[in-house]
Amino acid sequence: MLDLWFFEFDAPDSNLSILVKEQLDSEQTPFQKIDVFDSETFGKFFTLDGLIMITEKDEFIYHEMISNVPMAVNPDIKKVLIIGGGDGGTAREVCRFKTVEQVDMVEIDERVVRLCQKYFPQTACALDNDPRINLIFGDGLKFVQDAPEGAYDLILVDSTDPLGPGEGLFTTEFYRNCYRALNDKGILINQHESPYYKEYAYEMRRAHKKLASVFSIATVYQFYMPTYSSGHWLFGFASKGLDPVKDADFKRWSEFGLQNRYYNPGVHLGAFALPNYVQEELQKED
Ligand code: SAM
Repeated sequence: MLDLWFFEFDAPDSNLSILVKEQLDSEQTPFQKIDVFDSETFGKFFTLDGLIMITEKDEFIYHEMISNVPMAVNPDIKKVLIIGGGDGGTAREVCRFKTVEQVDMVEIDERVVRLCQKYFPQTACALDNDPRINLIFGDGLKFVQDAPEGAYDLILVDSTDPLGPGEGLFTTEFYRNCYRALNDKGILINQHESPYYKEYAYEMRRAHKKLASVFSIATVYQFYMPTYSSGHWLFGFASKGLDPVKDADFKRWSEFGLQNRYYNPGVHLGAFALPNYVQEELQKED
C-alpha cells in the first residue's frame, strides 16, 4: 500500500510534510474545505483549504499564548469576544480564567465547530459545557461592525490566513470597528502570520501597518509553533494604552493559579524581545 503524505508549502520549493495514518473526514462547506487526518507524531489534525489549523500535539502553545498574554496585562478582563476559533481551543483557555464572565465567540463556519466537537474534544470541550460561552455563527467582520461601543475588554482574532473568509479580518475597517467595540483598557490580539517566508512576512507587515494606524500601541509577540510555516509565529498585540511589557502584572496573573505547559512570565517577556530581522521586516515599506 502507498503511504499518504500531507504537504503544506511554505514557499514553492519548501514544505512541511506529515505521514498520514488515516484520513478521518473531508468536507467542502460554503466557506472552505475541511480535512481531518490522524498521524503518529502530531495525533489528529485538521486543515482548512489545505493549511494546518491545529494538531493535538502542539495546539496548547498557540492557545496558551493567545489568552495568557492579555490576561496578564489586564487581569480584570471580564468580557471577551473571540472571532473565528472554531476548534474551541481559544475559548477553552479563556474559560480557565474564572474571573471572565462572558465569552462571545463568532465563527463563520458552523461545520468547523461540529467536526471539532466530533474529532477534537481536547479543544472543543468548553463549547459544550461552559455557560459563559455564547456561540454565534456569522461573519466576524459584520458582528464587530454592529457591536456596541466599548462593549469588550478583550478581542481575540483567532482567524485563518488573509485568504477566503478570513480576508476581511485583516482590513483597516475591521481593526477600526474592533477599536470602537473595545473599552478604554481594551486589548486586541490577532493571528499575525509569520516573519520568515516571503508571503507570510508580507502579510505580517500589512497587518502591522494597519493596526499601528488605528491603535496607539501596536506590536507583535512571538512563539514557537512546530506545525505552522517555519515554526516561528506571531500574535499582534494592540491596545488603547496598556503596554504589554510595562503593564504586565505577573503577581496578579499568578493568583489565577494556572498550570501551563508553555506560557510563564519569562516566556511573556521574551516573546516581546523581537529578533533584529523581525524588527526590520516590520518597518519595511512595500
Ligand atoms: N489557530 C488557527 C490558525 O492560526 O491557523 C486558526 C484556527 S480557527 C479554526 C480559524 C477559524 O476562523 C476557522 O474556523 C474559520 O472558519 C474562521 N473564520 C475565518 N474567517 C472568519 C470570519 N470572517 N468570521 C468569523 N470566523 C472566521
